[in-house]
Amino acid sequence: MQALPIFINITNRLCVVVGGGDVAMRKVNTLLKANAAVTLISPEISSDLLGLVNVKKINYSATCYLSATQLQGACLVIAATDDHVVNMAVSNDAKHLNIPVNVVDSPSLCTFTMASIVDRSPIVIAISSEGNAPVLARYIRTKIETMLPAGYGRIAHIAGEFRDKVKAKFTTTQQRRIFWEGVLQGPIVERILSGQEAAAKLDLEDALSAAPTQHQGEVYLVGGGPGDPDLLTFRALRLMQQCDVCVYDKLVSPEVMELVRRDAELIYVGKARDQHTLPQEEINELLASLALQGKRVLRLKGGDPFIFGRGGEEIETLMQRGVPFQVVPGITAANGVSTYAGIPLTHRDYAQACLFITGHLKNGSLDLDWVAMSRPRQTVVVYMGLVGLAEICRQLIQHGVAPSMPVAVIEQGTTQRQRVVTGTLQDLTEKVVTTQLKAPCLIIVGEVVRLREKLNWFEPLKG
Ligand code: SAH
Repeated sequence: MQALPIFINITNRLCVVVGGGDVAMRKVNTLLKANAAVTLISPEISSDLLGLVNVKKINYSATCYLSATQLQGACLVIAATDDHVVNMAVSNDAKHLNIPVNVVDSPSLCTFTMASIVDRSPIVIAISSEGNAPVLARYIRTKIETMLPAGYGRIAHIAGEFRDKVKAKFTTTQQRRIFWEGVLQGPIVERILSGQEAAAKLDLEDALSAAPTQHQGEVYLVGGGPGDPDLLTFRALRLMQQCDVCVYDKLVSPEVMELVRRDAELIYVGKARDQHTLPQEEINELLASLALQGKRVLRLKGGDPFIFGRGGEEIETLMQRGVPFQVVPGITAANGVSTYAGIPLTHRDYAQACLFITGHLKNGSLDLDWVAMSRPRQTVVVYMGLVGLAEICRQLIQHGVAPSMPVAVIEQGTTQRQRVVTGTLQDLTEKVVTTQLKAPCLIIVGEVVRLREKLNWFEPLKG
């Protein structure tokens, strides 16, 4: 972020606009919407601007811009002339006087830029591309405009009217937020949007008096998918945005973490290989105790919580403690990562079955069903198998799989950092060492790996 978005109160404060054409007119209109006291400086002005002068909406100084004294006392300055020399002079003088200045279409002369605005006052959304792509910012604005019904401003006004009452009833901000979230997801909002404000206010009174002052906590066991945030489910996203605290693993991608409610408390419980930051039993206890404090706890996991995710153990403890919970499936690595690597896990000609295996070493060795893994016409997907890769390849060959059987190892699949190394049972280990792949990596063994040559579709930025 190169600039800090803030909202400045300019009601009745002097804002100086230099320039008298259409661009100046647009800027003046925006300033007037925010109730500024606008003074316009320009030897000539358009008829639209003259109209505003005549009805005394703005002050007009019918002169050229000559010196910094014309900017004295302003809280904002905008230069919107087509004369670069004048624009530059205004910019320099304003900077000298420490007044924030905007020069239209000259980012280098600005100390502030004007955002694209979605106005549902008192809800206001400002969008900026930091000067890089104003057209894109306007496009995004149009999208948001269509998403937000015009009545959202009325909802905010009514919420404002109830603010003190709600504050009086609930002592903590957490309780207040839970109350408001319940209201915002319920029928009261529809009433307001359909114009039945009086009825909506009565409903709100009822909801307020009926609301319990103590909320029961809950745990959301959510699968965050393999990395690409677009692969989250709607439910995952909704719960991620309403939690009070988020307990997360190393496997959850930074892009997915970005979507967790900004002011939720974040608790990292690690789990890099062999250095568990918190033992599983303590994680189970932590979840239960947070929920028993009345918090809405997001237990966010990579992939799917029930596939090599120990989700079952976590909810077992919650069951025992009587803590309510819900589980949201996620796209598991085998599914998401194979897709983004262009490798279908089954195929009529090559594989009629697919095995998901954990390659996690126990006491330094692998105790797997090698016979089942070596059967023909199937695909074997190995989670947590990077460290044991050489052993896996060796054992499969020993159990009768052809040394030329194709294998892929995919690092950080579905993300913009995805890397894929393909080879055979015989030569893959060496390739993986040379490319220095690091966890998380998924191993796919089977004829289907060959299809990647034809079907590879995903091009990560840093691949
Ligand atoms: N519950 C998770 C799996 C947890 S086990 C799921 O359903 O996906 C952790 C293993 O998952 C990693 O060692 C790796 O083998 C695999 N994995 C998870 N995300 C991955 C990714 N983006 N790319 C490659 N492998 C991944």
